[in-house]
Amino acid sequence: MSNLILRNPATEDVIAELPHATVEEMDAAIAKAAAAGEAWRRVTPVDRTRLLRRFADTVGAHAEELAELETRNMGMPIGSARWCANAVADTLHYFAGAVEKHTGSTIPVAGGVDMTFHEPLGVVGLITPWNFPMLMASWKVGPALAAGNTAILKPAEITPLTSLRLGELALEAGIPEGVLQVVVGPGSSTGWRLVEHPLVRKVAFTGSTAVGKRLMQGCAEQIKRLTLELGGKSANIVFADADLDRAAAAAPGAVFDNSGQDCCSRSRVLVQRSVLDEFLEKFIAASAAWKVGDPMHPDTAMGPLVTANHLAAVRRYSDGLDTVFTGEAPSGPGYWHPIMIAVADDMEPAVCREEIFGPVAMVIPFDDEADAIRICNDSEYGLSGSVWTRDGSRALRVVRAMEAGTISVNSNSSVRYSTPFGGFKQSGLGREHSMHVLDHYTELKNVFIATE
Ligand code: ADP
Repeated sequence: MSNLILRNPATEDVIAELPHATVEEMDAAIAKAAAAGEAWRRVTPVDRTRLLRRFADTVGAHAEELAELETRNMGMPIGSARWCANAVADTLHYFAGAVEKHTGSTIPVAGGVDMTFHEPLGVVGLITPWNFPMLMASWKVGPALAAGNTAILKPAEITPLTSLRLGELALEAGIPEGVLQVVVGPGSSTGWRLVEHPLVRKVAFTGSTAVGKRLMQGCAEQIKRLTLELGGKSANIVFADADLDRAAAAAPGAVFDNSGQDCCSRSRVLVQRSVLDEFLEKFIAASAAWKVGDPMHPDTAMGPLVTANHLAAVRRYSDGLDTVFTGEAPSGPGYWHPIMIAVADDMEPAVCREEIFGPVAMVIPFDDEADAIRICNDSEYGLSGSVWTRDGSRALRVVRAMEAGTISVNSNSSVRYSTPFGGFKQSGLGREHSMHVLDHYTELKNVFIATE
């Protein structure tokens, strides 16, 4: 199989060339993970916690190296990459601490004692995307290992470098051989093997809805456990009674962060019609202040898109779009796309319905609360969303009515390792983070012991 050639998205320079793993190499990794599982599940909880904490601390000690590697491979601004590297360490710490806290229960029954156990699944396959490579890896590796599974991480083939480094750091920290392996190769062959192979008991996937559907069909064959974190077209709902300065100051980050390559991107900005002009003026001013350019520069707010192919995909939506604002972007080399804001009067254009995964915000006016909810929920997706209002009762009414899994009020915030994260409808299946995710990495076993 031909080698993978990786380019820095900001410069187009080749930064690495590495071989694709073959299906046979994936099979060997799966066999090794299965063999390592016997010992790993018997490591005492406190020792598993210690090992995961050492892994977290080792990542923390290499945060700057990981951040720079992520920026060179993926193009995200170095400030974001540093945040991600530290968040990887924090996530691993959280799940290290969770090992001894994911407890079973005893249930009152007649004639005996009934108790439940959370048993590890065995080998789990973790398939991650290119937009937040190391962060997404930690979201899956943390709970998978904490729950006593052994894991194969299959990162997106275009951004594997930080995942490979995490694999090395795990070994350096004392995680035994075979407990975490990183296998790089194409999704449709090497990745698909995780779906097909009977020794892999669960697949955890983050990526496109189209591939998620295919994996669900594939997993059906063996009733294989599957969790999916997929696309989104989330709404940022701004009511007329909101603090418009705060809402407008936060809106660019909600959609242009990571060049819009974020499944939580609030790419539909729903604004109450009576404040549309006032909000737009502030939103445009806040967006114009975003520095777009060299992602290694600490002041940069937005870097390039990840590849030439992805740039072409985003341009298919943005070329010819009637914008109210188009920002500056370097002309090249690199895969640059400017920030764009456009207004749509209804949900019909594809740009309002489909996930663009680029720095393009669609502003859609609404009349009242019912109209806002109708437009928000008129989407096949339901990942995240925000509501801006000073009316606490309205905030509660609207968040309860929104068909989305991860919502914030008067904030953009989406994801914390200690709170559940995931989507409604075609945005996913299952949840990541918090103690809830551990249920997705274990089987619940019930045992009755007769005492009479
Ligand atoms: P994106 O559209 O964000 O590139 P994809 O859904 O194509 O996302 O890819 C996300 C991850 O899924 C990557 O690691 C990719 O290699 C993997 N992948 C893609 N197709 C398949 C497949 N048929 N089977 C298993 N993994 C796949």
